[in-house]
Order: sequence, then C-alpha cells, then structure tokens
Amino acid sequence: MSEVNDKKEYRTRIVTTANKVNLKLEEAQEQMFTKLSELATCPLFRRSTETESSQLNKRRGAVKSLLLSQDIIAGMGNLYVDETLYRASIHPRRAVDTLSDAEVKSIFTCMRAILKEAITFKSRGGDYPGRWLTQHREEGETCPMCRGTIQRTVVFGRTTYFCGTHQKA
Ligand SMILES: [Zn+2]
Repeated sequence: MSEVNDKKEYRTRIVTTANKVNLKLEEAQEQMFTKLSELATCPLFRRSTETESSQLNKRRGAVKSLLLSQDIIAGMGNLYVDETLYRASIHPRRAVDTLSDAEVKSIFTCMRAILKEAITFKSRGGDYPGRWLTQHREEGETCPMCRGTIQRTVVFGRTTYFCGTHQKA
C-alpha cells in the first residue's frame, strides 16, 4: 500500500472521545484544537509556574487524572494531556507527589509550547506535525521521539497513549 493510501486510511480511523462519542480522528483533532483555543484565553493557564507547581504538589494520584480535572486546568482535553505528558517524558500514571519541581515545570512549559504550535499550524491550515503523539495514537506505532513503542492504556476512564520507552513511570 502506498504512503498516501496509508495516510488516508489513518485519517478515517474512528476514535472515542471523553463523552463516549465516536469521531473520525480528524474531527477529534479539530475538537482538540477548539479546546486549545479556549485554553489560550483561560486566566488559569497564564498563572505563574510557582502557583501551578504548588497546586499540583498538594494533590495525589496519577498525573494524567489531575491534568484532566477541571479544577486544575480548565478545558484540558484527553489528546492534549497525552501530548503534554509525551513531550515532558512523564508516564501518564506517574503519581503526582513523586514529580520533581523540574518535571512539574516541564509539564507546564510543554503545555504552553504545544498550545502555541497548534494555533500556528491550524491558523496556516496545516495539520499537527508527524512528531506529535496525536499523529501516532495506535498501539505498536513507533515513537517519533525515541523509536520506542507506543502503548495504549486507560487512565481516569480515558484511552491513553504513551511511549513505553521515554515516558518515565
Ligand atoms: Zn519515545
């Protein structure tokens, strides 16, 4: 099968969102972008790293669950949380109280970078780049960052993809 056909097939894959709605992957990515745009104007998102760190450090549980909680960061979508942890090299099930200050800072730095990039790509009518986890949400895919294997699990009732090699548990 040619590369073009592979790409086309991938585009029409169905994914299940938080509210149990089946969407084409493309539509799910579109929703993710809407979330990102909302987030850009959210005051919580602009708070200092110090405040963010203290908010996270007071909590317990898996880091992904907390990032999905509305009271921590408004509007963080499932794909976006996965993308953030992927780039920060942190396992989605990692217990929040085991994160170092540098790791917490890295989570918020990555979040902002991803948001900024997404808005740039989308405003130019482009797609998310191939190095994004969002483009590799399938078990057994190769991690574009380290050539490790993408794995699937469920965290906080949500389908979760991560790299089994570079995301530290
Ligand atoms: Zn990797």
